Amino acid sequence: MKQYIDEADKVLMQTYKRYQVVLDHGKGMFLYDVKGKEYLDFTAGIAVFALGYNNEQYNEALKNQVDTLLHTSNYFYSIPPIEAAKKLAKMSGMDRVFFTNSGTEAIEGAIKLARKYHYNKTGKAGGEIISMIHSFHGRSMGALSITGTKKYREAFEPLIGGVRFAEFNNLDSVKDSINDNTCAVIMEPIQGEGGIYPASEEFIKGVRKLCDDKGILLIFDEIQCGMGRTGSMFSYQSYGVKPDIITSAKALGCGVPVGAFAATEDVARAFEPGDHGTTYGGNPFATKAVSKVLDIFETSNILDNVNKMGLYLWHKLDDLKKRYRIITDHRGKGLMQGLEFSVPVNDIIAKALENGLILISAGTHVIRFVPPLILEEKHVDAMIEILTRCLDKFEK
Ligand SMILES: *Cc1c(COP(=O)(O)O)cnc(C)c1O
Repeated sequence: MKQYIDEADKVLMQTYKRYQVVLDHGKGMFLYDVKGKEYLDFTAGIAVFALGYNNEQYNEALKNQVDTLLHTSNYFYSIPPIEAAKKLAKMSGMDRVFFTNSGTEAIEGAIKLARKYHYNKTGKAGGEIISMIHSFHGRSMGALSITGTKKYREAFEPLIGGVRFAEFNNLDSVKDSINDNTCAVIMEPIQGEGGIYPASEEFIKGVRKLCDDKGILLIFDEIQCGMGRTGSMFSYQSYGVKPDIITSAKALGCGVPVGAFAATEDVARAFEPGDHGTTYGGNPFATKAVSKVLDIFETSNILDNVNKMGLYLWHKLDDLKKRYRIITDHRGKGLMQGLEFSVPVNDIIAKALENGLILISAGTHVIRFVPPLILEEKHVDAMIEILTRCLDKFEK
């Protein structure tokens, strides 16, 4: 492993602090490194691998698509994007879909669509966007501009203008940020990177009403909390509100890099030919993945499993919280949960890794649990067993 790691450290840009493990393959809930050591994975490649590793139906569909048609330009029709868009529109309650290569690009598209809608409506450019403090929307210049953590933005300014940050779960703060130029409010219904903070029902409904009253678009970034993760297909569906634009990625392709933004008919129509585009986005290969993922979600009743296992995980993590003083909070929904600690969690995560458990943080003090959605009770039990052993070392 050491040789690979040394090579990587020479040729790859140093944007990540990587664990000293070279992964080789995966099966279901488990990953294996090049030496054959097994890891129970409660991270799913950052909320990506909803179906677990090496799902046979998924792999077969992709292999067939490789042999049929990988790519064609967006100047032609092909079948996979049509099927994927139909399914995604139906499951999200939106009318039209644009496929991208990543979550960040989905955010870029959503920002552009909101601005174009505002431009058409008012005849003026310069629509302002309200985003939330501690939100995360991506690393490109546009997505970074609306990401609510200053340390990510600072070195890269000037970013796009016309962005205001409001306090999450504080309706007055959103109200105070609105002016005549506001074109959109964007939020994650459950903040992921920021530390697993669910929006309160009161807040989300309040923002929806505020946007309706003022003619402002509401964008939900469901890149992490969508695709079944919280127990409904998209997390807003459990709040009983509907956005005007949604963004999706991560589990949308379950490993194939693909994202999407989708909108209601009225909003989507703001885009005309030439307003937006992509070479790779939504190609037959990527959209075949989307289509197959959505099919497997339905046929395997994955949402039932998320709800059942979400509850099971909730009880088990709550037990942990009662046992260890260093655990100060437990938040989340479905299979997107977080434990907050009074100490930085890096060392705990490293210890878990040594013991064959892959965990991920969200910020410095929160361990985030975003396992594949196929997990079973025995996997939760095994995770708790390893984590307990690690925590015993940190708290006597
Ligand atoms: C991961 C993430 C993004 C960025 O997606 P990429 O695919 O990494 O570009 C945007 N928003 C949220 C909520 C995310 O979790």
